Amino acid sequence: MKSPWFKEEHEIFRRTVRKFMENELAPHAEEWEAQKDFPNWVFKRAGEMGFLGITYPEEVGGSGCDYFYKVVFCEELPRANCGGVGMALLVQSDMGSPPINILGTKEQKEEYLVPIIKGDKICAIGVTEPNAGSDVASIRTTARRDGDSYVINGTKMFITNGARAHVITLAAKTDPTKGFDGISLFLVDTDLPGFSVSRKLEKMGMHPSDTTELVFEDVRVPRDKLLGEENRGFYEVMINFQGERLVAAIKAMAGAALILERTMEYVKQREVFGRPLSKFQVTRHKIADMLCEVEAVRQYVYYCSWLFDQDRNPAKEVSIAKIIATEMAVRVINQCIQLHGGYGYMREYGVERAYRDARLATIGGGATEVLKEIIGRMVGL
Ligand SMILES: Cc1cc2nc3c(=O)[nH]c(=O)nc-3n(C[C@H](O)[C@H](O)[C@H](O)COP(=O)(O)OP(=O)(O)OC[C@H]3O[C@@H](n4cnc5c(N)ncnc54)[C@H](O)[C@@H]3O)c2cc1C
Repeated sequence: MKSPWFKEEHEIFRRTVRKFMENELAPHAEEWEAQKDFPNWVFKRAGEMGFLGITYPEEVGGSGCDYFYKVVFCEELPRANCGGVGMALLVQSDMGSPPINILGTKEQKEEYLVPIIKGDKICAIGVTEPNAGSDVASIRTTARRDGDSYVINGTKMFITNGARAHVITLAAKTDPTKGFDGISLFLVDTDLPGFSVSRKLEKMGMHPSDTTELVFEDVRVPRDKLLGEENRGFYEVMINFQGERLVAAIKAMAGAALILERTMEYVKQREVFGRPLSKFQVTRHKIADMLCEVEAVRQYVYYCSWLFDQDRNPAKEVSIAKIIATEMAVRVINQCIQLHGGYGYMREYGVERAYRDARLATIGGGATEVLKEIIGRMVGL
C-alpha cells in the first residue's frame, strides 16, 4: 500500500540517513555520553551528507526538498542513540538558521547560511534569558544603536551549541520601552570582543550537547548584522518556533517508537515465572496501548508536516503536535523502563538515557502549558 506522505525517493533517503545514524554516530554514543561532549566533525559530516540543508533552496547550498525529507531525517535521528547530538544538529538546521533563510540579505546568506549548511560554521539560537523563557517579550538583553553599529549587553541562558557556535542568531531589545514591538534579531559572531561563555551547564540528559550561559558585554556589531527589520524580531521568533516545535514533535514521536520497538524485542526474550514476559496479557495490553498512542501521534505529526510544508505558521496544529508527541514520549518511554525491570534502570540498555533525553521536550522550545495557552487563544477562548 502506498503511503500518502512518503514516495520511494523518501524511503531511499531514509536508508541513507539510517546508515549514517547507525554506522557513523551510534558507535560513539557511549563515549560522547560519558565525555558530555561530541566532536565538531559531526556537523561537517552532516553537511557533506546534505542533512543540514534538506529544505533550503539550492542557491544557498540546500537540496530544495519537500518537508517529508525533513520528517524522514528527524525520524531516523533517534537511531544515533544520542539525543544530544540530534538536538545540536536540529539547532543548526531548524532553529538557528531558518531566520537567515527567511530574512537574510544576499550577503548575510553568503556569509552565514551557506557555511552553516555545509557544516563549516556552527550556529546557535539565543532567545532565553535567566529571567525570561516562556515570556519572550520580557527579555532584557539590549542592542543600542551607536552610529553605524549596535552595542549589545545582556545574558542568555540554556543556549544549545553556545560553547561551539561561530554565530548566534540573537534576540535583543532595540526598544527597551516596548515589549513585543521592541525586539530585533542579530547575527552575532562569537569571536567579537565582549562575548563570553560564562558557564557550561550540567543537566539531566542530552549530555553530549552543550547548554550554556552566554554573556554580552558591550559587544559591538555592525549595522548590517541586523537580521530582518528593526523591532520585528518577536514576530519572527514566534514564526520560527513553529519549525522548531515541529521537529521536536517528530523526533519525540520517533524516539518513543524506537524504544517501543526495542522493548517489544526485549519482552519476547525475557522470561519471568517460566514464560516470556510477552506471554502475559498485561504486557501485551500495555504494548498495544503504547502502539495506539505512538501510531495516532505519528499520523497527526505527518498531517501537521503536510500543513507546515504549505504554510510556515500553522501555530495551533504545531502546538497540538508538540504537546501530544512530547508528552506521549515521556509516558511511553517511562513504561518501557518498567517493562525492562532492573535492566531498564541500567545505563547499558539505553532506555533510561532515552527517558532523560525525552524529558526535555515538554519544556524546551515552548513548555506544554505555554502551548496550551496558544491553542486556547487560537480557538477564541
Ligand atoms: C537543555 C535545554 C536546551 C535549550 N536550548 C535553548 C536554545 O538553544 N536557545 C534558547 O533560546 N533557549 C533554549 N532553551 C530554553 C527553553 O526554550 C526554555 O527553558 C523554555 O522556553 C522554558 O522557559 P524557562 O525555562 O524560562 O521556564 P519559565 O518560563 O520560567 O516557565 C517555567 C514553567 O512554568 C510553566 N509556565 C510558563 N508559562 C506558563 C503559562 N503562561 N501558564 C501556565 N504555566 C506556565 C511551565 O510549566 C514552564 O515549564 C533550552 C532549555 C534547555 C533545558
